[in-house]
Amino acid sequence: MSVFKPHYIFEKTTKITPGFLKELGISNLLLDVDNTLTTHDNPDPTPGIPQWIEEMKSAGIKMVIISNNNKERVEPFAAKLGLPFTSMSCKPLPFGYKKGMKILGGNRHNTAMVGDQIFTDVMGANLSGMKCLMVLAIQAEEGAGFKFKRKIEKGFIEKYLKQQGGAL
Ligand SMILES: [Mg+2]
Repeated sequence: MSVFKPHYIFEKTTKITPGFLKELGISNLLLDVDNTLTTHDNPDPTPGIPQWIEEMKSAGIKMVIISNNNKERVEPFAAKLGLPFTSMSCKPLPFGYKKGMKILGGNRHNTAMVGDQIFTDVMGANLSGMKCLMVLAIQAEEGAGFKFKRKIEKGFIEKYLKQQGGAL
């Protein structure tokens, strides 16, 4: 399997249910922040996310935020959701994924990554030997660097969406 291929693609994070995770044997989630739980650099979670986090907690799903963004960005955001975090995680390198699993007491079989980017979140999950539940980015970022990356990503996402028969 390609390191770029997510195991599942969801329309958005809140579409992931405790029942779906249970069927996969997943009890730990590593969560990306930007465009997964909120828009880029937005200090507040997207509407519906705090309730979703609470629903997951109630179902016994343990979660940690794994972000490539800096501590100043990630720490206050994680605090709002009552979650532990690692910042500057260097995704797609497996280092941050290992740290996240250690925080939760999970392993690569019962942990999955939730994130919006093929070349960081998805690739790192595959390199770490865990499942990746990809979500479609909440909002396209501004800036030439992002535009270039998203353009390359688009081809992969369209192909995988077609194979899956659309987003879950
Ligand atoms: Mg992201």
